[in-house]
Amino acid sequence: MSAHRKPYVGGNWKMNTDRAAASELARGVVDGLDGAEGVQVAVFPPFPYLLTVGSILRERQSLVTLGAQDVSEHPNGAFTGEVSVAMLRDCGVSVVLCGHSERRHVIGETDAIVNRKVRAALAGGLDVILCVGEKLEEREAGKTDEVNERQVRAGLADVSAEELRRVTIAYEPVWAIGTGKTATPGDAQGAHEKIRGVVAGMFGPGPAESVRIQYGGSVKPSNAAELMGCPDIDGGLIGGASLKATDFTAICKAADVGARV
Ligand code: PEP
Repeated sequence: MSAHRKPYVGGNWKMNTDRAAASELARGVVDGLDGAEGVQVAVFPPFPYLLTVGSILRERQSLVTLGAQDVSEHPNGAFTGEVSVAMLRDCGVSVVLCGHSERRHVIGETDAIVNRKVRAALAGGLDVILCVGEKLEEREAGKTDEVNERQVRAGLADVSAEELRRVTIAYEPVWAIGTGKTATPGDAQGAHEKIRGVVAGMFGPGPAESVRIQYGGSVKPSNAAELMGCPDIDGGLIGGASLKATDFTAICKAADVGARV
């Protein structure tokens, strides 16, 4: 964590919760964050619960922002099941995940699709968290940095330096997501440093120093502090542990503390 980048932690609820559980989780996050002012926090509920969670965040005058897990690359029309940037904004969403590994590797989104979603979201006024990361076989073949570089370059193709200010990158090694396996702080830091170098090559040193890079992959309260203490790790994207308010807020607080040491 660097002193000049505010840590940023996102809770990706994936296809979990129901309306009652989403409401309770949102209240738990807001209440549990009390005092953690040095960290930016966003939650990403399933689409049907965006309005419910958004109204809880507003009611409690919380600074927690409302995010969506995906967005259509198209503005409107005959795209059954898709949700547009404008619809998300209409529901109070301000940030969207693009290229989460489950969308890349389970649903089949390509780098080109991810880039079109990134550009549509930015053009329509949403912030973006661009997720990148290597699969186990790519890691074992020594291709971690190559995969990250390809996904960052493709994901940010035709994004301007001005727009990059509204982009966060999440490095999430696929083998670590939902598996209980976490990259060592040293490995994660190494990957983050390389990703920052790729951004420097694309946009120059200033934007690369400013862009925040979250780590994701089985982050828990017990390993958060060590990860968040690494110089190029600027927060986390949290899946499983974001479904328990006490665990999620403990991770947010670890990021808050990590930014001050
Ligand atoms: C994620 O879905 O982005 C994620 C990192 O999941 P988990 O924390 O469960 O590994």
